[in-house]
Formats: sequence, structure tokens, C-alpha cells
Amino acid sequence: MAAYNGPVDHDTEVLVIGAGILGALIARQFAENGLNVSVVDAQAIGSGATRHAPGLATPSLQRAHRQQTMRGVQMLAGLAQQHHLKPRLVGALHVASRPDDADALRGLVAELQADGLDATWETDPSVVPAGFGGGLRIANSMLIDPVLLTTRLLQQPNILVKQHVEIQKLERVHRHVMALAPGYSVRAGAVVLATGAYTGLLSPYLADSMQVVRGSVWRSQPQPKAMACASAPVVVDGGRLVATQTADMRVWVGAWRWNSRSTDDPAHDARAYLNRHMPDLLAETELWMSAVGITSHDGSPLIGSLSGNQRSSAGNVFYALAPGRFGLAWAPVIAEQVIDLALRPRKA
Ligand SMILES: Cc1cc2nc3c(=O)[nH]c(=O)nc-3n(C[C@H](O)[C@H](O)[C@H](O)COP(=O)(O)OP(=O)(O)OC[C@H]3O[C@@H](n4cnc5c(N)ncnc54)[C@H](O)[C@@H]3O)c2cc1C
Repeated sequence: MAAYNGPVDHDTEVLVIGAGILGALIARQFAENGLNVSVVDAQAIGSGATRHAPGLATPSLQRAHRQQTMRGVQMLAGLAQQHHLKPRLVGALHVASRPDDADALRGLVAELQADGLDATWETDPSVVPAGFGGGLRIANSMLIDPVLLTTRLLQQPNILVKQHVEIQKLERVHRHVMALAPGYSVRAGAVVLATGAYTGLLSPYLADSMQVVRGSVWRSQPQPKAMACASAPVVVDGGRLVATQTADMRVWVGAWRWNSRSTDDPAHDARAYLNRHMPDLLAETELWMSAVGITSHDGSPLIGSLSGNQRSSAGNVFYALAPGRFGLAWAPVIAEQVIDLALRPRKA
């Protein structure tokens, strides 16, 4: 195949494709390592999953992922404070609709405490939605504004952001990678795909490793007062449904279907939850939208390199995918791992 020999509109040491929270964290860390970084996004900054998330950063309940996601929440809190955003400390309340699953959640309290989490079994009816009886409350959680954090992270002298540029093709040329968009081309020493649910379009190789998840999100008008889910966002059945109140006082309910072949409409779950637990809100003007997220098959983040040149990161394409549900908690950890992977050959 003939190598690309067209024009080069822009040259950069590192190109990050995707200006969501993950792309911003990665770009920021490259920049702090002294590299010139360019970030491109097909839309405006933070317009992907990052914009739709209510911003609940909370550790994963899965033992294998607990310590890392706990650290991720702490890192995110530090970054939010550093950028003058006030993270709101909350206690994520996990509830289960099946009695067996509720028992399993209750059984986790001691284990989580032993792992350093501030976990309790909550039964206060003013916090636990009717019908659940009790819930596992994890205090080490917070609500942040992910778009604002993304925007602030990208405000760095050696980060250049170009919005509304959709990369459609990547080509390796000698020690570089050419990223090609209609009417625009970037030559980069290394490229990072931080393209979330759209990653399969640029790399079919990765499409098999992730599941695209369909969701429906309902958002109310700003409410005059804080509701119980403002201080204790509710996570039903491991994230099948999440209800919370965001910093601008809107109630946010999102429901998900993991099996992308399922024809069920997740909006039904959200509507049923609203009807049951917040019937007054339905009188408010509402906004529905469907959302797309990704998850890996075991809830792990996907990080790696698409080429096998172990001695140099030049000309290499890395990928970083923060799986939904705990994507925010994973994001700073993933960013650190990608930087390590990309810079290891330089440091060695
Ligand atoms: C509705 C919803 C609610 C969520 N709630 C939470 C939550 O409360 N807590 C939590 O931890 N996680 C939550 N998640 C998951 C979390 O939002 C994601 O894990 C996180 O935002 C992923 O960030 P990202 O930067 O990887 O992806 P994104 O924010 O999706 O960014 C990817 C970017 O890449 C760009 N892009 C894609 N392809 C190209 C291309 N070819 N060229 C140029 N640009 C491209 C897109 O335009 C997009 O801006 C939620 C997800 C959704 C959808």
C-alpha cells in the first residue's frame, strides 16, 4: 500500500483524539511531561459521554477494581480542587431490586470497610427509596462537573485544542502517524485514541473488546430544594439505573441496557422509577435523551498500544477507554497508565 504523501497541516509530538474527560487527563499529563500536545475532537470539548454524565465519581464494588477506582476518585478530587472546582462529597447508595442481591450488598459492608472504604448499611427511609429496605452507602464518593474539569484541564500553554475535526483514518508513515480528517491532516510522533464509544470506528480491532451500551437519561428542571438523592445518589442493581441531583439542582435519572441487541427501551425503567419515587417531578418540564456508553466485558478499562514497536513510542498508536458506570473513577488512573506506556521507552 502506498504511504501517505499528501499535505501536512499540523505537526505535533502527541496527538490525543477525543476531548472528553479522559482525553483531557491524558493530554494534561503529556504536557506536564514537557511534550507538545494537540487534541482534536469531532465535536466541541466534552460533548461525548462526559457531557451526559451527572458526575458521580465512586469506587467500583468489584474487589479487583476497588483500590484503583478508590485512588481514581481521590485523584479526581485533588484535580478538581486544583482547578477551583468544588467537588461535592456524597455517599453513593447502592440498592438492589432482588432480595438475594440486596443480601449480597449487605454482606459487602465489612469487606469494604476492611479495604479502607467508609461503607455502611443505610436504612433511613428519608434516604433509601421506598421498596428497597436498605442500601449500601459508600461515603468515599463525590459529584463533580466533568465538562468544566475537562475544559480547565485543557487550558495549558503546550496543549493545542482543535474542535469539530473528525479523524477518519490513521496511517503510519516512517516514525510518525498521520491522522486524517476531511481537509485537515496532523502528523504526530504518537497518537492516543480517547474516543470512547466511537473507538470501534477508528479501530475495528478494539470493537470486539467492548460493549456499546444504550441508555436513556431524564433531566428535570432545576428544583427549589435539595432532594435525598442530592447527598446520596442512588445506584440500582450495579448501575442499571442511577438517580441523582446535579450541582445545578436538576434531578437526573439514567437507565441502561448492557445487551446492545436487546430491544427493550431503557426509558421504561427510568419512567417507572420516576413514577414510583418522584411522581411530582413528572409535572416538571423534562428532557429525555438517549445516550451511548461503553463497557468492557469485565468492567476493566482498556489500555494498550496498537503496534508492537517496543523500543520506541514514536509512530505508535495507544488507546484508552474508560468503561461506563465507574468511568470517572477510572479516568485519572487510566491516564497515568497510558502515559507510563507511552513514555516508558523514552525513560528507559
Ligand atoms: C449518560 C451517561 C452517564 C454517565 N454517568 C457516569 C457517572 O455518573 N459516573 C461515572 O463514573 N461515569 C459515568 N458515565 C461514564 C463516563 O461518562 C465515561 O466513562 C467518561 O465520560 C468517558 O470519557 P471519555 O473521555 O473516554 O469519552 P467521551 O466523553 O465520550 O469522549 C470521547 C470524545 O471523542 C470524540 N471522538 C470520537 N471519535 C472521534 C474521531 N474520530 N475524531 C475526533 N474526535 C472523536 C467524541 O466527540 C468525544 O468528545 C456515564 C456515561 C453516560 C453516557
